[in-house]
Amino acid sequence: MTVRSKLYEGKAKILYATDDPAVLLTYFKDDATAFNAQKRGSIEGKGSFNCAIASHLFKQLEASGIATHFIEQTSANEMRVQAVNIVPLEVVVRNIAAGSLCQQTGLSLGTVLHQPLVEFYYKNDALGDPLLTLDRLLLLALATAEQVTQLRAMALKINDVLKPFFLQCGITLVDFKLEFGLDQQQRLILADEISPDTCRLWNQTDDDPKQRVMDKDRFRHDLGDVALAYQQVMERVLQHTL
Ligand code: UDP
Repeated sequence: MTVRSKLYEGKAKILYATDDPAVLLTYFKDDATAFNAQKRGSIEGKGSFNCAIASHLFKQLEASGIATHFIEQTSANEMRVQAVNIVPLEVVVRNIAAGSLCQQTGLSLGTVLHQPLVEFYYKNDALGDPLLTLDRLLLLALATAEQVTQLRAMALKINDVLKPFFLQCGITLVDFKLEFGLDQQQRLILADEISPDTCRLWNQTDDDPKQRVMDKDRFRHDLGDVALAYQQVMERVLQHTL
């Protein structure tokens, strides 16, 4: 039987230990936060939508040769994952300019990038997850130069899988955030989640900049129908395989 000892409670998920030290249980909550937790709320059903979406995407990625921490979905809100040491980096991949890229560079929302942009942010709430330079990342020893090369390659490969996958679903993958962990053999594997909480997803059949949003920007910017958008992403994602 699974032993429920809470290891960590984050903004959107709870991590429990199990009777196997190599396995953890992730519980996906309905709680939502934005702007470094300055905005808080709840999206009814989000936990189950994100758990189903992330499980399905992890399976697609595994089938494409990308190692992930995913083991299996065990209930509507829960998945069993491999225990890893999380690398304190948020790896963001962008195909289209949005969010902080627009704010910090002046690029217009929706500018198509000629090639995907990979960025590293310091996973540190107290500092507000700042954008890192490679030299700062190495200075802080957040990863080795070799690991950075590997993280970049994995992030781009994941984009190469997810972009066409979402296209099949009628969704444009604008950008997304990844987290990685080191397994017991010190191998880098994909961890955390991939969901509308961590991606920007635009409905392809809608050009209206507000209507098209199918991700957490609906919550961030009070666009309404947040749960419905997450549910629609789930329904489309579950209908497709690579
Ligand atoms: N993102 C995330 N967690 C974070 C910061 C960003 O999942 O702590 C995701 C976000 O949903 C988007 C992408 O990473 O899909 C790029 O986010 P951006 O840097 O534009 O920041 P934002 O505008 O969301 O503050």
